[in-house]
Amino acid sequence: MTIRSILIHPDPRLKKVVPPLAEITPDIRVLADDMLQTMYDAPGIGLAAPQVGEMVRMITMDCVKEEGEEPRPLVLINPEITWSSEETSVYEEGCLSIPEQYADVERPAEVKVSWLDVDGAAQEEHFTGLWATCVQHEIDHLDGKLFIDYLKPLKRQMITRKMQKLKRERARA
Ligand SMILES: [Zn+2]
Repeated sequence: MTIRSILIHPDPRLKKVVPPLAEITPDIRVLADDMLQTMYDAPGIGLAAPQVGEMVRMITMDCVKEEGEEPRPLVLINPEITWSSEETSVYEEGCLSIPEQYADVERPAEVKVSWLDVDGAAQEEHFTGLWATCVQHEIDHLDGKLFIDYLKPLKRQMITRKMQKLKRERARA
């Protein structure tokens, strides 16, 4: 397993709509393992393939936060939201591609999602709480959407400028 480098916003690869994956090849399974390791290493609770520069419709998640609780690594290929609750909830979101920036985002509080696992088996789950927010945030990445796209333009521009500065500093280092 390899820790991949995570793209920082703004990057054109983070703005693309990723087409569905046609076939789960051994390379895809390697990418899934790499993404999980990259996510845990960051550390983060979710990661989408475009964030590591791979235009593959796949996300990884593990929203187990309690110390001592069993980890629950999930790999979702071609995830689709099949139902959203009318009730919404607000979470302070962050993103591994937008380090150290956080903002409240309102989303449906619960969603049903169907996907293929790495063995190609169809899965479906009803997500609530942090899991529901995380899965929607990650699926957004597959459609070229970032959590800052939900913010007012001024706030979004402010964050984008901070990220441009961060990238310049990193390039110089
Ligand atoms: Zn993100």
